[in-house]
Amino acid sequence: MDYDTVREIDPAVADALSGEVDRQNDTLAMIASENHVSEAVLEAQSSELTNKYAEGYPGERYYGGCEFADDVEQLAIDRAKELWGAEHVNVQPHSGSQANMGVYLAMLDPGDKILSLDLTHGGHLSHGHPANFAGQVYEVEQYEVDEETGYVDYEGLAELAEEFDPDIIVSGYSAYPREVDFERIQETADAVDAYHLADIAHITGLVAAGVHQSPVGVADFVTGSTHKTIRSGRGGIIMCDEEHADDIDSAVFPGSQGGPLMHNVAGKAVGFKEALEPSFEDYAEQTVENAKALADQLQSRGLELVSGGTDNHLVLIDLRPSHPDTAGKEVEEALEEAGIVLNANTVPGETRSAFNPSGIRAGTPALTTRGFDEAACREVADLIADVVDAPEDEAVIAEVSEAVDELTDAHPLYDDEEPLYE
Ligand SMILES: *Cc1c(COP(=O)(O)O)cnc(C)c1O
Repeated sequence: MDYDTVREIDPAVADALSGEVDRQNDTLAMIASENHVSEAVLEAQSSELTNKYAEGYPGERYYGGCEFADDVEQLAIDRAKELWGAEHVNVQPHSGSQANMGVYLAMLDPGDKILSLDLTHGGHLSHGHPANFAGQVYEVEQYEVDEETGYVDYEGLAELAEEFDPDIIVSGYSAYPREVDFERIQETADAVDAYHLADIAHITGLVAAGVHQSPVGVADFVTGSTHKTIRSGRGGIIMCDEEHADDIDSAVFPGSQGGPLMHNVAGKAVGFKEALEPSFEDYAEQTVENAKALADQLQSRGLELVSGGTDNHLVLIDLRPSHPDTAGKEVEEALEEAGIVLNANTVPGETRSAFNPSGIRAGTPALTTRGFDEAACREVADLIADVVDAPEDEAVIAEVSEAVDELTDAHPLYDDEEPLYE
């Protein structure tokens, strides 16, 4: 897009918008929660539905003129049901965090107890961190991953559940490279008579494609973001069985939101349609294969990975064993200078701080959308390792930067000639 119409009215914003297109084109997006949506999703998201108030649900709105809003929302719901096999779906949450808020509001009273994974071990703010509303309204206890193995400490979780007697156990994580055993966590939740919320924000696409086990039909509630591996319009989603449908719907609207972002719901509908195509399975499989190749090559360059590898779309590098004097932020900044955009991340048993942690998280969803294969991801792993070895060496940064240019030129984004993906 050239943003000519915006430019006529507002050159400053037009500059930022085209700057962002160039930035995405010229850099490698390796933030594990990011992806590039198709031109069709972009178009739907920028549609005139942004003008429409559609408080309520399809067929039961508080405003007139909702026939097309109804069509779009019903399509999003039906496709989500087909993708994930859920009985009931709410596609209105404005974000993944709002989806979690919807579940808490529906099922908990203030002061009730949440048991969730520690943020520094891979959890999410919306799972009850003190800086988030969930940490302020509910009583929160946290389980951890085993610091030796990097895997969720399922036994420790079961013991903590017995002790703490939670009302809800939250599974699903932001920086966890391994498959989550939802059934095992469900058993723990059943044993203490707690609900189980499986937050699949990161792995929505992997679950939809069947390359990660699904919590749908296992956990009481499943939430997700719709713009991460599932590559649809930006926002959130809640899935549950019919029994909890009304409670969930009322908690989203009017419980915690006003009018739905119907243009985003349209983007969700289009993205879900794309994800129902057989080619999406190939995409999800390739995303995981690419992460494995990335992991393998990073390890052969002497870098240590939390849990020793990956089952999904991301890797978490612990810099401490190989580079004890190098912090995550320093590497993040040097890599960004070289055109590789990812984030410093805490690691289990963090010894630095949340602002300058000891790890780096890197994901393959966006690169895979761009057409990267395993060989290209191995090359990227080498570039990352080069910078980790010498974050202050300008000559290294310049060399890596050149290699990034070649990679991005070979895999153009949003060019007018060809669609981003089929
Ligand atoms: C990304 C994420 C969310 C929600 O993120 P939003 O930015 O609010 O969409 C929720 N839970 C987990 C585990 C996440 O990784």
